Amino acid sequence: MKMIFLGAPGAGKGTQAENVSAAYGIPAISTGAIIRESVKNGTPAGMEAKSYMDSGSLVPDKVVIDIIKERLAQDDCEKGFILDGFPRTIIQAEELEKMGVDIDFAVTIEVPDENIVRRMSGRRVCPDCGASYHTEYKPSKDGESCDKCGAKLTTRHDDLPEVVLSRLKVYHEQTEPVKEFYNSRGKLLTVIGQEKVEDTTALTMKAVETGRMLATGRVE
Ligand code: AMP
Repeated sequence: MKMIFLGAPGAGKGTQAENVSAAYGIPAISTGAIIRESVKNGTPAGMEAKSYMDSGSLVPDKVVIDIIKERLAQDDCEKGFILDGFPRTIIQAEELEKMGVDIDFAVTIEVPDENIVRRMSGRRVCPDCGASYHTEYKPSKDGESCDKCGAKLTTRHDDLPEVVLSRLKVYHEQTEPVKEFYNSRGKLLTVIGQEKVEDTTALTMKAVETGRMLATGRVE
């Protein structure tokens, strides 16, 4: 199964992509996480991406498309994958089609803007292994350090309130049209984000199962 997760920054698509990845045994590929790793390692792509990311803008299409091409060529993508945070522009969506990647369906998680800023102020990330947490919705065991590797959790620069506002603007202008791209192909499933993560998870699982049945034509 090949699926895409869409949604505003902070809508919970990363968390849901991880849940679906665990349930279906296919990798969740986050372009944001790959870019953050490249920035940390000081690779040429990382150096180019950093200033865009820090200001809340999108990294140029070419950089992200090269990243995704390389990632999708890896063996673990053979049985399918979840794209979390890609495509974020119509150009990226078109490029994916040109690459011959036949997406089964796209899931969009809808959360009103006013809830996003509040949610994002609580996000925490592990600077070492990239695991993500939330002070309110998904706290680490001791609230301060990573459950997986023990590093002290930090706030991403692009989760600061002023950056979040510009990321939301970018989302509405450049990424929302991607919903219509998949809707016009009969491939869009909409999940209304809920206050409690587990409620959104239940709806997301339903959407993915519906998408799977539509794509395979089988009810199992
Ligand atoms: P995320 O972790 O998905 O919220 O991504 C963090 C940042 O990485 C975004 O604000 C962008 O600057 C950059 N980024 C991630 N994915 C893409 C993409 N598909 N196209 C352009 N920029 C991206």
